[in-house]
Amino acid sequence: MKINRNFDNLVPNYLFAEVAKRTNEFIKNNPDKKVIKLGIGDVTLPLAPVVVEAMKQGADELGNKETFKGYPDYEGYEFVRKAVSDYYKGFGVDVSADEILITDGAKSDSGNIGDIFGADNLVLVTDPVYPVYVDSNIMAGRKIVYADSNADNGFAAMPPKDIKADIIYLCSPNNPTGSAYTYDELKEWVDYANANDAIIIYDAAYEAFITDENLPRSIFAVEGARTCAIELCSLSKTAGFTGTRCGYTVIPKELERDGHNIYNLWYRREATKFNGVSWPVQRAAAAVFSEEGQRQIRENIAYYQENARIIASAMDELGIYYTGGKNSPYIWLECPNGMGSWEFFDYLLENANVVGTPGEGFGKNGAGYFRLTSFGDRESTVEAIERIKKLLSE
Ligand code: PLP
Repeated sequence: MKINRNFDNLVPNYLFAEVAKRTNEFIKNNPDKKVIKLGIGDVTLPLAPVVVEAMKQGADELGNKETFKGYPDYEGYEFVRKAVSDYYKGFGVDVSADEILITDGAKSDSGNIGDIFGADNLVLVTDPVYPVYVDSNIMAGRKIVYADSNADNGFAAMPPKDIKADIIYLCSPNNPTGSAYTYDELKEWVDYANANDAIIIYDAAYEAFITDENLPRSIFAVEGARTCAIELCSLSKTAGFTGTRCGYTVIPKELERDGHNIYNLWYRREATKFNGVSWPVQRAAAAVFSEEGQRQIRENIAYYQENARIIASAMDELGIYYTGGKNSPYIWLECPNGMGSWEFFDYLLENANVVGTPGEGFGKNGAGYFRLTSFGDRESTVEAIERIKKLLSE
């Protein structure tokens, strides 16, 4: 009996464990201090009422012989796929309902999509990076190379001219750097992928946070993407589904590599290893895309966007370099006075009692950087920012 030895190559990910350990220790030693957490990547506002109502109706339907549902279609119910397709039309992107598959979220999809690709492909990720792209490819035994995101490119890496990658993971707006690619930048990636016969796995989990109308909400807004890209998205950050679980993949029907149709391979993979998203959750997902659903989820997104604006304008006032904050719930800032990310973490915790996320947990280019998030409540965000402003202007 042998285990998958690729697991030996995983680097222990102690980022969030270490953040929790240091925070808890501080709280234990300073019970009188009110610690505010601006490090979390999880949403805090409840589901929209119209979504909850649809989920309840879905549950009732399961309890009734006439409307009971068993296994869903592997690709998701058509009314949900149609709702997603119409949503894309709303921002000018044409993807048909039969190019969409409903899934349980972008984390599983970004990890699972690798099942359809050979182990000998060269994987390119941008650094800093959402760790799932790296770890899932290490588990599969693939070689990974990195494109640097740094202050020179506004923490939005561009294609490396000297590397011929096969699989490219892009995330825009980016976690953790908050940067969002422009049309022209994405077009460079699309041209690079088409020229190299590569595939871009495009994670659009934060697309709903884009406010600038000139920025693409989908890679399929870019000419040429249909012959090189797969898009992953989810309702986690769009509609507070982090605990409810629903996402979707978009694969153009014409996308082919190595003599195979990519949609068909992904469909086969899903049909083999996944039995679909539950009926109440698919009902709830469809409600997100209804007119009233969109109005209600937009209120929640606007709340987080205002938090992000508050954090970003404090950085402006303090003269601290940062990316994100405008088209993203994340603010990625340079630690002041040349501090290291963990050094700044401790400094902020001890002196402002505020918790953030040290950038170096996301890759080597995160050293000296720090991530704050806008998913907290308004009052705490405002208080944390006042404390940070006071501390850093001293
Ligand atoms: N992709 C990115 C870039 C993320 O930051 C996250 C969550 O933080 C996910 C995917 C996970 O999304 P889901 O909840 O849909 O699995």
